[in-house]
Amino acid sequence: MDEKEQEALKKQRERRKRVQRIRTGIITFISVWMILSIVLTVIMCVKIISLQKQIDVLVGNYDQNKKVENTEAGVQNDDFTVVNSVTDSKDNLAEEGDIHKVYLTFDDGPSENTDKILDILDDYGIKATFFVNGREDEESLAAYKRIVDEGHTIAMHSYSHKYSEIYSSLDAFKKDYEKIQNLIYDTTGVESMYYRFPGGSSNRVSNAHMSDYIKFLNEQGIVYFDWNVSSGDATSQAFTADELVENVMSDVVKYKTSVVLMHDAKTKSTTVQALPEIIEALQKSGALILPIDENTDVIQHTSIQQ
Ligand code: ZN
Repeated sequence: MDEKEQEALKKQRERRKRVQRIRTGIITFISVWMILSIVLTVIMCVKIISLQKQIDVLVGNYDQNKKVENTEAGVQNDDFTVVNSVTDSKDNLAEEGDIHKVYLTFDDGPSENTDKILDILDDYGIKATFFVNGREDEESLAAYKRIVDEGHTIAMHSYSHKYSEIYSSLDAFKKDYEKIQNLIYDTTGVESMYYRFPGGSSNRVSNAHMSDYIKFLNEQGIVYFDWNVSSGDATSQAFTADELVENVMSDVVKYKTSVVLMHDAKTKSTTVQALPEIIEALQKSGALILPIDENTDVIQHTSIQQ
């Protein structure tokens, strides 16, 4: 082999090595890029799910606050009007000497706070109303039973409480309704007669379908309840127990019938803390504390699109 051939062979080897290096580089780049894409996709999915949940919670809180403001002021908004029901209008304004009927209502349970609330109600001999969600663990099933056994009113607040699901269509709403109605019936033997829409009947998520949902509930013989007094425990604003008491008491004096919005979800320990004081203040004022039944004047917000 002469020098020229050797030179050519050397060049050829070097070229092959170079090609090999480039190929390895490309494969490594593509692999890293693919792995990164997969990881980013997973992270984004998790992020989207968590954001969706936060939106549900925020929309709920926003609607709950908005509604109370609207109910009190009779505010007209650009895209909807809140029409007060008869009992939430002038007819429900208390005058000197009127007896105040107060319905304490607890949404979003059961949770470990439900038992604490039931203990407090028992201590004071008070009956209340629980608008429950669907949970099938042993503690929750026991809580449904305890609510009924101790003479409180068990009412529905949807099975899933997921706005994006129940308010997606009438069909989805019906399915969710049947699930919570059946769960309560199978667990307690009680056919619940009362419903509270997650976010109330004037929540903005379901505006387009709300009249269909209401019509459906009417057909089932179900009465839906909103509220005209908010304890404020639904807001992200951290009210102290004293402030919750103040929120309730300052509104209850205005009405003949007050349906008070409170929550027995597991994060609502301030509500548990405030409850004895709320009951004592109500009793001191001479108010009648009652569970919702067929004699209760209906408190409803109704939203109509313009
Ligand atoms: Zn709720």
